[in-house]
Amino acid sequence: EMVEFGVFFNRIIDRFEMSKSQNVSFERNVPKAQYFVEIDTDKLTQVIDNIISNALKYSPEGGKIRFSVREAEGELLVSISDEGMGIPKENVDRIFDRFYRVDRARSRAMGGTGLGLAISKEMINAHGGKIWAESQYGKGTSIYFTLPYEIDDGGEWD
Ligand code: ATP
Ligand code: MG
Repeated sequence: EMVEFGVFFNRIIDRFEMSKSQNVSFERNVPKAQYFVEIDTDKLTQVIDNIISNALKYSPEGGKIRFSVREAEGELLVSISDEGMGIPKENVDRIFDRFYRVDRARSRAMGGTGLGLAISKEMINAHGGKIWAESQYGKGTSIYFTLPYEIDDGGEWD
């Protein structure tokens, strides 16, 4: 399905913004419609839901979650950043492994299975994109992913 990514992304963010119970604010840097992506919307929704759920799970009281969409090196670059406890440097790449969870005690308290990001990685790869994390322990985490996109050329006619 061909969708404009900003519209698709904003709709998911809206759903979380309306239903969240925590005192966490959202800041969006999502440009007006122009990035068209050919995606499985159910699967991408699952990917983004998991990333936002994680960001909310690990956000402190009064924290901020930042969403951004931009072009980088010919691809769409999406990021979701939180101000949570972060992930130690040596563990950052492992969060995409199946069943991997940074710290057993905190993970048990938070619930979940440790599969969310492994599934997200499979799905982003299947769409021709990449996904990775950058984190500063004690300061926050950013999840980035890329997707191939097309610019609206004014419409295609068959
Ligand atoms: P599931 O998504 O299956 O419900 P989960 O959230 O524990 O369980 P993942 O989404 O795969 O699993 O995340 C793996 C682990 O990476 C988490 O258990 C957590 O330790 C760490 N992690 C993921 N996102 C963040 C984040 N935003 N801040 C801090 N740690 C994170
Ligand atoms: Mg998760």
